[in-house]
Parts: sequence; C-alpha cells; structure tokens
Amino acid sequence: ASQGSESSRSSALQNAKTAVHGDLEKLRGYHDLAKDALERAYRRDMEGSRAEAMKLYRMGLSIIYEGLLITVQATGLGNAFNNVAAWRADMNKWQKNVLERIRELELASPTASGVRAPQNIVSQQSLPRSPRPQSRPAQPQSRGLGPGGAAAPAAGSTPASKEEERLRDVIEGEVLDRRPSVRWKDIAGLAGAKQALQEMVILPAQRADLFQGLRAPARGLLLYGPPGNGKTLLAKALASEARATFFNISASSLTSKWHGEAEKLVRMLFKLAAEMQPAIIFIDEIDSILSERSAGEHEASRRLKTQFLVEFDGVANGAERIVVIGATNRPQELDDAVRRRLVKRIYIPMPDPDTRRALLKHLLSGQPAKLSRADVERLVAATHNYSGSDLAALCREAAIIPIRELGPAVSSVPADKIRPMDAGDFETALQSIRPSVSPDQLARFAKWTAQYGTTS
Ligand code: ATP
Ligand code: MG
Repeated sequence: ASQGSESSRSSALQNAKTAVHGDLEKLRGYHDLAKDALERAYRRDMEGSRAEAMKLYRMGLSIIYEGLLITVQATGLGNAFNNVAAWRADMNKWQKNVLERIRELELASPTASGVRAPQNIVSQQSLPRSPRPQSRPAQPQSRGLGPGGAAAPAAGSTPASKEEERLRDVIEGEVLDRRPSVRWKDIAGLAGAKQALQEMVILPAQRADLFQGLRAPARGLLLYGPPGNGKTLLAKALASEARATFFNISASSLTSKWHGEAEKLVRMLFKLAAEMQPAIIFIDEIDSILSERSAGEHEASRRLKTQFLVEFDGVANGAERIVVIGATNRPQELDDAVRRRLVKRIYIPMPDPDTRRALLKHLLSGQPAKLSRADVERLVAATHNYSGSDLAALCREAAIIPIRELGPAVSSVPADKIRPMDAGDFETALQSIRPSVSPDQLARFAKWTAQYGTTS
C-alpha cells in the first residue's frame, strides 16, 4: 500500500509550499548565468584576450559562489530535486575548472605564449587537454544586447592599473545584475509607480531622442514606503523591463566587505555606468548606506557619502544616461543632501483592496483551494493593513494547515486525498499572521510624504 506514497507525498508538499518554486528558479537563473559568463570567457580566452577572459571567468566564478549558496527546501521535491542536484553538480564542476584556469592565466606572464589552450569549461567533461588552441569557434549565442551586452571595454584600451582592474571585477561580479528577474505582470497593483517608472526610466532609455531638453528625465528617484510592499520587487522588474544596464548595490557590497575602499568602488561604479549607458544604479536600503551624517560617524562612511554626492552631481549635470534609484522603508533617516538629489520620490503604499484581491489571486493560483468569491471578498476586507509580504505569509500559513492536521499520517496520504485549503484555514491563519506595519508607522509615512513626497 505504501508504493508510490513517497512521490505523492512530495507532490503534496510541493503544492503546499510555493516558496520552493522561487528558490528553484533562482538557482536555475544562477546556473544559466554562470554558464553564459563562462562561455563568453572561453571565447575571449580562445581569441587570446586574456584580460577580458579573466574578468569573465571571475565573474562566472562569483556567480557560481552565490548560486551555490542558494538553499532550496529539498524536502521531497521529486523531479525538481533532480534538477537541483544536476545544477549544483554543474556549478561545482565549473568552479573547479575555472579556478584552475584562472591560476594558469595568473601564473603566465602577460606576454608569454606558453599557456595551455583554454577548455570550454561549460561543455567540457574532463577531456584530455589539446596542446594547441582549437580553431573551432565557440557556438555563437543568440543573445540580445541586453544588460551587460557591452560589459567589457574594447580590447586594447589603455592598460588599467591593477587596482582599477580589481575594482572593476568587484563591480562586474557583485553589483552588475544580469539576473533573469521579475516582470511587470508579476507585480500586483502599484499602477502609479509603474507608470512613473515607465516615464522616468524605461522610455527615456529606449527613446533618448525624445527625452531631451524639457523632457529630460529626472536622474534621481526614490521609492519609499512601509516594508514588504514591492519596492525591491519593482526595481527587479525594472532591471528586466528596461533595456539598460542594471547595477544593484546593497549595503553589504559597499560597506561591510569593502569598507575603507567603498568610495573608490563608488567612483568606479559611476565610471562603469557611464561606459555602459543607458544604465540604472539601484541602491536598495539606501538609508543604511547614505543615512544622515552624524557626529560619531565613521570616517569611511563619510567619505563614501561625499563621493556619492560628487558622482551624482556629475550625472545630474552631465550628458550620461544614468538614473540613480534608491529604495528605503526609512526615508526619515536619509541624508538631506541625498534626498534632495533624488528629486522624484514615489510612495509605495500598503496594498488597497483591489491590490490585495489581485495579490491573493496571484498567490492562490494553481493551489488547491476551495474559496468562494464571497470568501475571497471577506478575506480582502479582513486584511486591511496587511502588507504584500504579510499576505504572502498568510497564504503560506493557510496552505500548511491541511497538511499539519494530518499529523504523522502525512507520509502515507496520497496527494489527491489532501483536502484543499478553505475559508476556515484562512480564519485560523488570520489569528497567527498579523499585520507587520503599525498605524503609527503609516502616519509617519504620511507625514514624510506631505513634506517631501512627489505627487504627480
Ligand atoms: P522592504 O522595505 O522591507 O525592503 P519591499 O517594499 O522592498 O520591502 P519586497 O521585497 O519588494 O518589499 O516585497 C516583499 C514580498 O512581498 C515580495 O517578494 C512579494 O512576494 C510580495 N509582494 C509585495 N508587494 C507585492 C506586489 N505588489 N505584487 C506581488 N507581490 C508582492
Ligand atoms: Mg526591499
């Protein structure tokens, strides 16, 4: 009787946990990106553009490192589980090979020709190494000139200092975002914000000819609002919708790991953005990097801020097509000078009833749920002051209840015998998942908006 119970159990869990899917996609994304970078590296390597190749190998490597850190909840994923294993195995193999190749290239003097021919790390299966460069060119890829299409500066450009090279690597590896990402349609509601981003960022990047003079777009933009309502999501969607190079800065890439040289990184960042324009520089949690200056503040972070302001003024007054976008849920803590430069400030509010309905629909699509239209309406009404991420948590909680009530029997119940979640589950879930944003906080946002927000 237990035959097949393993697989039915796993599909039950798979249905119950939407979170699994997200991580899976992310892992696949990193896998594919690493592959892409390594294939490009191989081509450069074959052509003998060693510096370029090196950069791409390093980039591939950092993508792999990050990719291998992604955890996929692997409790009985069935088919998906095998994919996960295969992607991880690929990345592990590539990592080993890339490290080896990087070492080879590093050991060889820049002019020496005694380096072994490169191997295509992606397609190679521990083949015996050929002594001479193969003349067969790598498969050309049908790849649009999307973000990063022009990542490397032309070969033969002025030899950059070692320091500069290193900073470039950091930015290309950690900051330049080529992730296949969220699309507009994945974001519920927020029509106003989408419209504003369309006008300020997407169209100007596509039609620079139209957006000049009086129509010149704002160069600085702030997305602010209570946590969990899609600020980061919007920026990610922007990265895939705008045909612009997308630099994604987080507090960690600038401060903790690179503190002391963060300001150099900022300089290099704007320089690269100018080389790869049109470009978007997105700074998430901008308050933590560019907060109000205080007396006891660290010297390094003061320098970072100053450098940022200098670079930003260069952008605001220059002809480069660069937009700086910040996101924060603590706009009050933003440095005055920074706030002034982010001239358009768009409030990302708590979801209104229509948005909540759309979000619930999105979250429940494809899930076994028995909810009447009236149930959904009651739920929409009951979730006043729930943020987008609160709603997601609510649905996850409701989804797990039918599984939880099975107790130990869960291991032998066929997937189709698990009852769909119903209105009662949501009633229960509403008790444990409470709104995470207080009315107090909302009042503070309203006040800030009245004082500094852009209304248009
Ligand atoms: P924070 O200020 O804490 O950084 P945020 O505004 O950046 O929050 P996100 O990370 O963008 O919030 O959203 C959190 C999660 O909530 C998303 O991953 C998504 O699952 C869900 N979510 C929030 N708003 C929306 C929306 N409008 N459409 C779809 N999903 C949403
Ligand atoms: Mg965020």
